[in-house]
Amino acid sequence: MSDVFMNTYHRLPVTFAKGEGAWLTDVNGKKYLDFCSGIAVNCLGHNYPPLVKAISEQAAKFNHICNYYMSDISEAFAEKLVAACAGAGMRKVFLGNSGAEANEGACKIARKYSLVKHGPGRHQIVTLRGSFHGRTITTLAATGQDVFHKDFGPFTEGFSYIPGGDIAALDNALDPNTTAGFLLEAIQGESGIRPQSKEYVAAAAKLCAERDILLMFDEVQAGVGRTGTFLACEAYHDEHGLGIKPDVVTLAKGLCGGIPVGAVLAGEKAMDVFQISDHGSTFGGNPLAAAAGIVVLDTVTKPDFLKEIARKGAKFESTIKGWKDPKVKEIRARGLMLGVDITEEAWPVLEKGISRVYSEKDAHGLLLLSAGKNTLRLLPPYIISDAEIEQGLEILKSCL
Ligand SMILES: *Cc1c(COP(=O)(O)O)cnc(C)c1O
Repeated sequence: MSDVFMNTYHRLPVTFAKGEGAWLTDVNGKKYLDFCSGIAVNCLGHNYPPLVKAISEQAAKFNHICNYYMSDISEAFAEKLVAACAGAGMRKVFLGNSGAEANEGACKIARKYSLVKHGPGRHQIVTLRGSFHGRTITTLAATGQDVFHKDFGPFTEGFSYIPGGDIAALDNALDPNTTAGFLLEAIQGESGIRPQSKEYVAAAAKLCAERDILLMFDEVQAGVGRTGTFLACEAYHDEHGLGIKPDVVTLAKGLCGGIPVGAVLAGEKAMDVFQISDHGSTFGGNPLAAAAGIVVLDTVTKPDFLKEIARKGAKFESTIKGWKDPKVKEIRARGLMLGVDITEEAWPVLEKGISRVYSEKDAHGLLLLSAGKNTLRLLPPYIISDAEIEQGLEILKSCL
């Protein structure tokens, strides 16, 4: 492999040449079933015809214009996105390019909201231990894992961390005199698909509302249908049994089916915090991404499509449980977002998925993700078929 890249990634020994649906083919012609979707990005699989068409058509018009002007395609995308999130109370959106950038935007909104309404000194943002919010200096500071808080300091001030699930700790941390926002990864992805309980999220919604602290869901990984509802927070309810209405939601990974994007959405309370020149992003709302995003939204927001995601997720879960394999310790599943704790190390299983030979004439590999040392993370594309789920899980079984 070329050594011009900075040495930031622990890469598996495979180089891909093309993709089709839930499959990728490497430069030697070997096929791999994709249970990772480029880390929850390629939600409609590879080479999805309507996506290819939309991107190609837009590329033939223009790829970029900059945010001094408007394009119909970016406007159409933004309107569809806000409409898709309207059930959770979202009203306006700011578009950028990545999950980290979206979370930066969320933190800026919380800080300015609090400053304008309550005056200085109330800038703290609380996040959960085990969370992951991005790789910039500020989103590393937001990330509640000590391993990320070395080498690159000083980090942005004003972040504190609490253990998930502990309502007393939350009550204590959400100090109305110092706190601007609670940034919540309700289903922690990078740390192994770890969902917060309904009671916990209901308590968070109540405390944030009472204390005028912005409730901000980082749905960069869990959003856009991944869990079987368009937003993962739609599966949570407040103390009155009504759907959770966050103040801010961030999205990225799957939103444009493989084209870079990040989105900060805000409800009534926070939607007008940003005013002219408060925030910006050269590529934000990029027409190519918008064209792709429209296809993703039109596809994923169909109720039957979301039901299928939930059904396929349940099929994954029940099949793995059905193995009764003592090497499988626990499965945590929310739609097509699954964490499988195993008794052995996860990374060698990923290597086996790449290197295994399915049969003499038909060599198939399997693309998996890990999360921490002993957890496999499955994030298959939504378009995966039942037969492919069965085939891929057979391969997985043989790799354990
Ligand atoms: C991946 C991820 C991010 C960071 O997104 P980037 O696009 O890599 O900046 C932030 N939050 C969560 C929950 C993520 O899964």
